[in-house]
Amino acid sequence: MFSLAQLLNILKKQFPGADLDMVKLAYDYAARAHAGQIRLDNTPYIQHNLATAINLTVMRVDLPTIQAGLLHDVPEETAYTIEDIKENFGAEVGSLVEGITKLGKLKYRGMERYVENLRKMFLALSKDVRVILIKFADRLHNMETLDALPPEKQKRIALESMEIFAPLAHRLGMWEIKGQLEDLSFKYTQPEDYAWVATLMATTSPSKEKNLKSIVKTLHHALTQQSNLKIYSIQGRAKHLYSLYKKLLRHDRDISRIYDLIAVRIIVDSVAECYTALGVIHQLWKPLRGRIKDYIAQPKPNGYQSLHTTVIVGPGEIVEFQIRTKKMDEEAQYGVAAYWLYVEKEKPKEGARLDAKHRSLGWVNELIKLQQEIKDTAEYLESVKIDVFPDNIFVFTPKGDVITLPDQATPIDFAYHIHTDLGNKCAASRINNRLMPLSTTLKSGDMVEIIVDKKRARPSPDWLDFVKTRTAREHIKQSLNRTSRLFTMFKRG
Ligand code: MN
Repeated sequence: MFSLAQLLNILKKQFPGADLDMVKLAYDYAARAHAGQIRLDNTPYIQHNLATAINLTVMRVDLPTIQAGLLHDVPEETAYTIEDIKENFGAEVGSLVEGITKLGKLKYRGMERYVENLRKMFLALSKDVRVILIKFADRLHNMETLDALPPEKQKRIALESMEIFAPLAHRLGMWEIKGQLEDLSFKYTQPEDYAWVATLMATTSPSKEKNLKSIVKTLHHALTQQSNLKIYSIQGRAKHLYSLYKKLLRHDRDISRIYDLIAVRIIVDSVAECYTALGVIHQLWKPLRGRIKDYIAQPKPNGYQSLHTTVIVGPGEIVEFQIRTKKMDEEAQYGVAAYWLYVEKEKPKEGARLDAKHRSLGWVNELIKLQQEIKDTAEYLESVKIDVFPDNIFVFTPKGDVITLPDQATPIDFAYHIHTDLGNKCAASRINNRLMPLSTTLKSGDMVEIIVDKKRARPSPDWLDFVKTRTAREHIKQSLNRTSRLFTMFKRG
């Protein structure tokens, strides 16, 4: 259970000496407005408001955003109106709550029917990015309590989080939020894959964690002995499940080839200390060739900064280290939110970082221009898909329905995505009206048609070499097993 005291304690640390009366008033107001309402998980409604506000503190937002987080569902779910809120809490908090209310509550049934909601979201984003942060905080708690909802709703909300909100968080540089949204959704969007990865992680990580403890101890000792580093933290961090899943798919599902299952993150005070720490690590352990990455001198295009190195800590034991300053760490986790945190308070000194962040905000402005220019919905959606959601591809059925598939998917993945029988009876495929091999890599916008042969077609073991989705893989394997069992029976008979 969350409490007001818990929220206030966090805020007292984040805003020393600040007047928190308005936060308390917002809480009282929300508690009164939602009095008697119970959520489906059997908790009083106000728990949701508190959870949203507490999630927001993690993103390091300002106090008006915290108040708006507490009040975000009031106009929608209670007898109090947006005017009441403006009157009591002023124009700034009022417009944030209004922004959230206007975001739209369209049920998610795939992106193509969601275009109007997307337009609303980008508009909100261009006006005041804080609205989207409240939405993320709200969604995180809704995902955490999703078990209480009926299965159909679970799936729909999880898909929306996975296909809309996680990529949006990614685009805003909020990787921690993105990771959380994906992991919380993964369980519902792909329950079997989730179970597989979760089990894999649970069986592999305990021994790794135990090893890490002594590694961290050795490193801490060396860092403090040899050089007077100011270390904020050294911590082993397990990879997010969904990103582990995606990486496994790229590495033949072989967990022994994943070196950053648990990475050690070292947070120090200055850029110079990052390089010192890297030197100390390389004195202790031998680095793997080609795996030292200097994203401080050369930040990733999205602005990410850090030093990475992978070292051999023992026979067959490999560990990845990530070294960065506190500022870089907050930016890596909270993106746009961390950006204001600094820009509002001090003149930015690091030119490269500033440029990268400007680009990411420039991206929002581009989208806004786009939505003014492009009135045609289909065309608009097409450009949004390419710009904002690059990890998925969107292909069409002959009837014009849009199917979302992972990048690099093939006609076989497409067929199994639609129906098991369509996959099992798949004989050939037409892509954009041309006959193409079943192993062809699909691209966004392709129109895919599956040609079935009900009598003769059956899954081939070769398909396992190129399919990308687990659904396809599992169905192919099942069908192959069945066939070989039948074959044995015939031989015996
Ligand atoms: Mn809510």
